[in-house]
Amino acid sequence: MEAVDLKSFVSGKWVAGSDRGTALVNPSNGVTVAWAGSRGVDLSAALDYSRRVGGQNLRQLTYASRAALLGRIAETLAAHRERWNDISRINSGCTKSDAALDVDGSIGTLKYFARLGAKLGETSLLADDQPAQLTRAQNFQGCHVGVPLHGVAILINAFNFPAWGLWEKAAVSILAGVPVLAKPATATAWLAQEMVESLIAANVLPEGSLSILCGSVGDLLDHVCFGDVVSFTGSASTGAMVRWHDRVRAQGIRVNVEADSLNSAILGPDGAAGTPAFQFFVREVVREMTIKAGQKCTAIRRILVPADRVQGVTEAIAAELAKVVVGDPSDLSVSMGPVVNDAQRTGVEDGVRTLSREAEIVFNPRPPSGGAFVAPTLLKLHPESEGRLVNEVEVFGPVATVIPYRNSEEAFEIARRGGGSLAASVYSADSEYLAGAAAALGSSTGRILLVDPTIGDLHPGHGVVLPSLTHGGPGRAGGGEELGGLNGLWFYHQKVALQGSDTTLKQVLTRAGNPR
Ligand code: NAP
Repeated sequence: MEAVDLKSFVSGKWVAGSDRGTALVNPSNGVTVAWAGSRGVDLSAALDYSRRVGGQNLRQLTYASRAALLGRIAETLAAHRERWNDISRINSGCTKSDAALDVDGSIGTLKYFARLGAKLGETSLLADDQPAQLTRAQNFQGCHVGVPLHGVAILINAFNFPAWGLWEKAAVSILAGVPVLAKPATATAWLAQEMVESLIAANVLPEGSLSILCGSVGDLLDHVCFGDVVSFTGSASTGAMVRWHDRVRAQGIRVNVEADSLNSAILGPDGAAGTPAFQFFVREVVREMTIKAGQKCTAIRRILVPADRVQGVTEAIAAELAKVVVGDPSDLSVSMGPVVNDAQRTGVEDGVRTLSREAEIVFNPRPPSGGAFVAPTLLKLHPESEGRLVNEVEVFGPVATVIPYRNSEEAFEIARRGGGSLAASVYSADSEYLAGAAAALGSSTGRILLVDPTIGDLHPGHGVVLPSLTHGGPGRAGGGEELGGLNGLWFYHQKVALQGSDTTLKQVLTRAGNPR
């Protein structure tokens, strides 16, 4: 198969970079499958075109009409599902279930926002509250409404979810009436690029409302203007570069950052071997370590266990990990594929070496050779260690560490040491304990899954992000907020405090859908 050259779609046309750019590989065998180069692409003109043409076209439509567009995007993407699964396998090393998480997750998220947006009806503003009297004059009132921004949503994504990473952001932006310029991570840009190509070919969206930049980000951020927003997913260090970019700061650009996270799973004090809490806990840890070869921002990295259960839990997890078959996912017996490329493999191996300074490696079989394969790796914190590195270093692969705790307060305190996480899960049959865990972990965690035996088989997974709930976490996780139903729309709107007569405000609100 000849490597494809990925063009960018900007200013309403497909353009190639002036050089081939970066090679995208099949991580199972190192073969180059595509090239992505953005040198020479006029990014100032691209943003200007999106603002002028795309913004104008989208803002002419109501929320309900834009919701219908999301439905058509979902239908078009669903028609090519097999193609997306193939690209996911070839360029990301995904097994069928890994690919489904990314591809079906995208389609599901688009459909969810299509349904939700339809409920806003033929309106063009978002109502936040009802008018309330402001002074002694009964007729002088105030309320808040959201007005769609007149800019471009620059959506910069990480390599691990080339499809979902794009659509979970773009669905909300397009529904809000803000045109999109997507910048997928170069290593896996092929899937996002071909998805966009299928939509352009099917003429699904108004002109200018969807653009994609394939290859490096270049000088894109030097051309942002007031009204644009940047929604970034990736490492904390790149996120900081985006946040502190001179032009981004000078223009007061709204930035959302979804970054690293040291997510924890806590086995409650009642989780003795053989209890449902113990079994659900072990199953979830193994699932989280191995889905997408651990390359999930929400994956469990820290496994918090009562000190007297460390041995039993470690053995149970290791026994399940021993059943994992690592290899090229084109072989259907394989249950965990490679990480995305050799650089990522080296990063994981270095990370394991770093953690092993304070943790014992208890499970780390030899992975297959010839690709970016990494074995699922379980570590156990040395009893005498303070656990500085395990609470600091994110190893973005199938790697997690068992950490003992002496009592619940200590478990919650260790979980908070992650410096702000996207997700935590807690396993116990005691609802009172679970409620206490929610309060104790809430200040440092974006989402908490509380697993008692009644939902042990019903929840979609510790790491699965649902469009109806907020995705994001404080501190090192970036401090961002995405999705969360219609709350996600506010990032793409200016919330305006309006003052006027009762009659005038009622007139404004006839144009506003009420998301509450
Ligand atoms: P990354 O290296 O930080 O790259 C993320 C994106 O930023 C890529 O599209 C990259 O483009 C782009 N980029 C690079 N330099 C930039 C610059 N100077 N200005 C603007 N954008 C720039 O992250 P990654 O390796 O792709 O992803 C792994 C990380 O993402 C992990 O740390 C993981 O925890 C995090 N992550 C977080 C979430 C979440 O929702 N919180 C989700 C997934 C992943 P190029 O690819 O062209 O360099």
